[in-house]
Amino acid sequence: LNRRLAEFGTTVFAEMSALALRTGAINLGQGFPDTDGPEEVREAAVRALRDGRGNQYPPGPGIPELRTAVAAHQQRRYGLSFDPDTEVLVTAGATEAIAASLLALVEPGDEVIALEPYYDSYAAGIAMAGGTRVPVTLRPSEGRFRLDLDELRDAVTDRTRLLLINTPHNPTGTVLTREELASIAELAVERDLLVVTDEVYEHLVFDDAEHIPLVSFPGMRDRTVTISSAGKTFSFTGWKVGWITASPQLVTAVRSAKQYLTYVSAGPFQYAVAEALALPESYFTDFRADMLAKRDVLAAGLEDAGLTVYRPSGTYFVTADIRPLGESDGVAFCRALPERAGVVAIPTAVFYDHRELGAPFVRFAFCKRADVLREASDRLSDLR
Ligand code: PMP
Ligand code: GLN
Repeated sequence: LNRRLAEFGTTVFAEMSALALRTGAINLGQGFPDTDGPEEVREAAVRALRDGRGNQYPPGPGIPELRTAVAAHQQRRYGLSFDPDTEVLVTAGATEAIAASLLALVEPGDEVIALEPYYDSYAAGIAMAGGTRVPVTLRPSEGRFRLDLDELRDAVTDRTRLLLINTPHNPTGTVLTREELASIAELAVERDLLVVTDEVYEHLVFDDAEHIPLVSFPGMRDRTVTISSAGKTFSFTGWKVGWITASPQLVTAVRSAKQYLTYVSAGPFQYAVAEALALPESYFTDFRADMLAKRDVLAAGLEDAGLTVYRPSGTYFVTADIRPLGESDGVAFCRALPERAGVVAIPTAVFYDHRELGAPFVRFAFCKRADVLREASDRLSDLR
């Protein structure tokens, strides 16, 4: 393994899912739903396969039907106009979108600012591009992990090329507010930075939180790559269909990298996702309501077990502090948890450069059936 990747090894998600299989524990680690997405969308994939749509290389930017559906979704939901022919690119999940964006936009030696804790593929993507990651830490205060805008401002140097933003944020569940996003946008404009914004949980926002695309702020239209994925919105994480929306120039750049990573993304699933994006609004409303109920089941279970819970405003993850249990090392806690309680979770420390800041936090996924979450809660109550 070369020096750029040496620090990464196996992803924590693979490690923790293997631990769950080995021990038979309930897997609240890796974020994938235990219930597949809508039947009619699965049928659409089967139809595409049978009819021979997408069984040979689809067009490089993605099939026109999906690009049009992505553009229509951005218009309908946020009032944002993107040209399906020049401003949308289909990718092999958000993961490829992240890697291709970084490979296309970062020069070796450039600094990339990422919110810490950061989703693990950001660090690897920055490293593959030869960039230097500069973490800006979200710190817990008043029940929420918060971005310190002064800290963000101070992190920008003459070598900063790009801000890598994620909202709703994995793993903390923070949804950046309009004011926070406006400040990020102002900073990007003032320092002439590119922005890659991972908005894969755009449909998973709860309570009073609102997802506002960063690209919708003044001066952002031509400097922002927005990423989303059918894996999250339609509960098909195995299909690996994601996309970016951006200016023609940025789409062309990211496509240059994508061409040599995967060339194209799997065909029949693109037809199915195009249909999924056109589902009636009730699909999205029900999906959110269902996930909100799951959040509350798991959050209550974790609170009963004695952890301090940061009830998320978005995503399907809840981050909890284990210090009330007399524990301070989330990595050790998660290694022992299958034996102690028959549950698998993710130690948030692995998403930090400043590992000491993440040490007491553990991430639990709640994209699971309510009975599974109740069973997990029962088991966790033994921790007290
Ligand atoms: N970004 C974030 C913040 C994620 O949580 C995930 C999936 N867990 C991804 C990107 C990757 O998405 P995909 O499966 O579509 O590659
Ligand atoms: N994004 C999912 C998570 O955060 C898992 C994705 C993966 O396994 N790479 O758990």
